[in-house]
Amino acid sequence: MAAEHEISRQQDLYYADGSVVLFAAHAGQTHAFKVHKSVLGSHSRVFADMFALPSATELETYDGVDSVNMPDDAKDLEDLLRALYYPATILSMLENRNPLAAMKYRGIFMLSQKYFVRVLQKLLRARFRADWPSTLQEWDKLMEQYDSLSESTVPQHDAASQFVDNRMLEPASAIRLAREANLPEILPAAFYMLSTISPFMDFDSLRSGSPPTLTDSEGNVLVWVPGERTARWGLLTPSDMMCLMRGKHYLTEFAQKIDQEAGRCLCDTNHCVQYINRRKLLKGPTQDLLRVLNEIGSTVTPAHYSCHDAMHMLASRCIEARSRLWENFCYYFGLPDIDDDQNDDDSDDVALGDPEGAEFRNE
Ligand SMILES: [Zn+2]
Repeated sequence: MAAEHEISRQQDLYYADGSVVLFAAHAGQTHAFKVHKSVLGSHSRVFADMFALPSATELETYDGVDSVNMPDDAKDLEDLLRALYYPATILSMLENRNPLAAMKYRGIFMLSQKYFVRVLQKLLRARFRADWPSTLQEWDKLMEQYDSLSESTVPQHDAASQFVDNRMLEPASAIRLAREANLPEILPAAFYMLSTISPFMDFDSLRSGSPPTLTDSEGNVLVWVPGERTARWGLLTPSDMMCLMRGKHYLTEFAQKIDQEAGRCLCDTNHCVQYINRRKLLKGPTQDLLRVLNEIGSTVTPAHYSCHDAMHMLASRCIEARSRLWENFCYYFGLPDIDDDQNDDDSDDVALGDPEGAEFRNE
């Protein structure tokens, strides 16, 4: 235990009538929480067992009660205790689609799993599941919302607000959390979203005081367009990077196949509308193939137009390909198959409301 003067008592989590003091460190500082064994034990069987230990394994004492040195980060522990003692904090965690959720609530989510705080664990799990689309329809709905965000973003006064993706889900942090907290169901959409973001668009470095200069393959300086997405690339593990590369490879191949199978229009010219649309498929990385397929699929030509038949065929092929593509994500990115039974005793899982129409938070 740290020397007395180095201990910081967490005022609103330091109860005079508490029955146990928990110590935890954060950034070299020891924090003390005086809480109740009964409260902790009622939420968590790990805590219940910890405090039920026979007095043979004597606990140290502090401030007149038992004390325990916790191995956890004090900030995470504080979040956990606050959620147990001040339920309103849970409500703010469960607000719809907080874009920072995967970063902000990672600690408390991991602790709720570690200490089996079942209610909290279930609520957070449900939150993350609801955030990420699990069907193509949900994905399209989310992209519609994001498009309207981009359109409504006019030049702002503060530097941060030019990053429209401050209000969007960040895929790399979500992938990291999904791996650590065993939430495989959010991986397909998160990996696909990441595949649509340029590796040069780094979340942190572009927001830093001296953002890097972006250039093209010939070294020409590129003008950064507000609205372009960024990702926290540094959070990806080497094996997740491999999954991403694998997925991008298959996405390119998928697009090439559609192009090949569509064949040339009878007009056989380079200003043919079908030819121009097929070329969109081959733009290569980094493109949002679901979006491109939708664009091509929505191209309508007059029936009497000479290229109509070829274009119509290509358009319907592209629309049909979208669902096939979505269903292939697990295979393309090398992800575990989503199996509803994998979350063992989660049959009583909680469901959150439809996030559609909810306000986006931007903290
Ligand atoms: Zn043609």
